[in-house]
Amino acid sequence: MTERLVVIGGDAAGMSAASQARRRRAAGDLEIVAFERGQHTSYSACGIPYWIAGDAQGPDALVARTAEEHRARAIDLRLGTEVTDIDPERGRVRSRDADGAEQWTGYDHLVIATGAEPVRPPLPGIQAQGVYGVQTLDDGEAVLRGLDRAGVRRAVVVGGGYIGVEMAEAMLRHGLEVTLIDRNEQPMTTLDPDMGQLVRAALEGLGVPVVSGTPVRAVLTGADGRVRAVATDDAEHPADLVVLGLGVRPQTGLAAAAGLPLGEHGGLLTDRAMRVRGTGNIWAGGDCVEVLNLVSGALQHIALGTHANKHGRIIGINIGGGYATFPGVVGTAVSKVCDVEIARTGLKESQARAAGLQYVTAVIESTSRAGYYPGAAPMTVKILAERRTGRLLGLQIVGREGAAKRVDIGAVALTAGMTVEQMIGLDLGYAPPFSPVWDPVLVAARKAADAVAAADAAG
Ligand SMILES: Cc1cc2nc3c(=O)[nH]c(=O)nc-3n(C[C@H](O)[C@H](O)[C@H](O)COP(=O)(O)OP(=O)(O)OC[C@H]3O[C@@H](n4cnc5c(N)ncnc54)[C@H](O)[C@@H]3O)c2cc1C
Repeated sequence: MTERLVVIGGDAAGMSAASQARRRRAAGDLEIVAFERGQHTSYSACGIPYWIAGDAQGPDALVARTAEEHRARAIDLRLGTEVTDIDPERGRVRSRDADGAEQWTGYDHLVIATGAEPVRPPLPGIQAQGVYGVQTLDDGEAVLRGLDRAGVRRAVVVGGGYIGVEMAEAMLRHGLEVTLIDRNEQPMTTLDPDMGQLVRAALEGLGVPVVSGTPVRAVLTGADGRVRAVATDDAEHPADLVVLGLGVRPQTGLAAAAGLPLGEHGGLLTDRAMRVRGTGNIWAGGDCVEVLNLVSGALQHIALGTHANKHGRIIGINIGGGYATFPGVVGTAVSKVCDVEIARTGLKESQARAAGLQYVTAVIESTSRAGYYPGAAPMTVKILAERRTGRLLGLQIVGREGAAKRVDIGAVALTAGMTVEQMIGLDLGYAPPFSPVWDPVLVAARKAADAVAAADAAG
């Protein structure tokens, strides 16, 4: 008998699951219906800041697989159709299409891949014309239209996370005067404040004032209803255009209404196979779930495309009759603002403390190439290592060319449970155009190993 797989959410996690399931099960064996309330499918939100900056084409080039391509593989993709209810008792979902027509669709397997929703505090003026989020391809088009308006000269970016700093670059590239406002003391709170301070210095070096430690109170509008400034407690920051990068939270209202289990961060709870806990045939992945942090042992909500794609693949394999599990994450993320690269993996200091781990830190300055080789650029590397065991706990890097992807050394070392002493012996590639003879990460590992020994000696 033909089974039916229903997918809610037609982007990274949902369509990876659908595609993988289709690869393993023919249409006569598994019917696949995917509901997507937007008009795009399998698109890269990650590319939006680069499209707006002018580095990448968009929006079509950001679509990895079109609706027609999915349909050609016997995936019944219904765009512009929102799922409004999940009825786990009877194994069905209710959907509403663009004309308002409602319909129930039964499922044998259900994949919830509804992603995350941007945080939008109820600030006065936040809905004003000229205020943009950056979540979907439609948002990208709206920002570009906003930039095309005559007289747009000043941008305020609210939020200093990775989307905020990437959008600050995009605005700079359009020749705008840019101010970044963040309620935290330093931008990039995925880093420790001392490393965030380097990002702040980089932004200021690019001519972007960073207004920090103060929340935005309101978006102020002119007589025409368009944004004219962003107000903090003690100042007004003039703006012709405002970009919001205030973070996201899991989009799980639908799942919660169906009685499915959510964690303390609001994400769906799954087992290792990405099956929603306590259910037999409901799966979830991507930005709407919580994931296990392998270093801290805690559940976390980390909204990244790299995880969403892996989750989707795993779900598709399992529905397809195979077996796959998601091991968890170590918390790796990279981004950049102009030529300054920002990278982190593992735990930052506050996370290590929250996990009850005692640690030492080491911070070093080095260069991207041998010091004598032309173009060598500075790089700061910070390592956290556990006291006594010397186990690597975290790695953060801020620097230029090649800084960001060096964090992958840390991601592998964390996954393997390596100590900083073991890292020192890693056989990394070396030639003067690529690194100093001691790679900056290994220099930091040496200093961290010394700090572990010193802490031991001190008792
Ligand atoms: C500007 C930007 C830059 C980013 N850069 C990076 C990066 O550099 N690296 C990285 O790893 N990640 C990055 N990300 C994050 C990455 O894009 C997300 O983690 C990834 O898209 C998550 O995939 P998903 O399938 O879980 O959710 P989404 O991509 O959010 O897809 C969920 C889909 O579900 C649909 N949907 C929701 N509810 C319903 C419903 N009830 N009915 C029907 N459809 C519904 C939504 O319309 C949406 O299309 C970036 C995100 C943004 C916004």
